[in-house]
Amino acid sequence: MKEEPENTTIFGKILRGEIPAEVVHEDIHCLAFKDIQPVAPQHILIIPKRHIPRLSEATEEQRTILGHLLFVAAKIARDLGLDREGFRVVVNDGERACQSVFHLHLHLLGGRDFSWPPG
Ligand code: 5GP
Repeated sequence: MKEEPENTTIFGKILRGEIPAEVVHEDIHCLAFKDIQPVAPQHILIIPKRHIPRLSEATEEQRTILGHLLFVAAKIARDLGLDREGFRVVVNDGERACQSVFHLHLHLLGGRDFSWPPG
């Protein structure tokens, strides 16, 4: 298998245990932890363990992991009781969408009302 370049993003450091995170879920494919600057009472980030820089760069062979991330987001939402009133899952792709960490992540947001369209 082709060796990947080192993941120098902050999430790469979290995955390698170089910086701490409040982990709420881990399995062989992904890690989920609390966002350091929450924008909702519940703000969880779900990231793949393999480095996918952004959603638009995901490859055909990574389509299963994309579904897994969404499945895990729903499971965590249920575990936190967010499914009773509703929650939001967001992926920012690229600078125009305010992606700041170039390691794919789902934002799971809950515990307050949200408006639409998003800002
Ligand atoms: P983005 O703007 O790329 O969609 O989201 C990146 C998210 O990562 C932001 O919500 C930001 O607060 C979060 N974040 C950045 N650095 C850290 C960190 O060191 N630890 C944790 N837990 N979250 C971080």
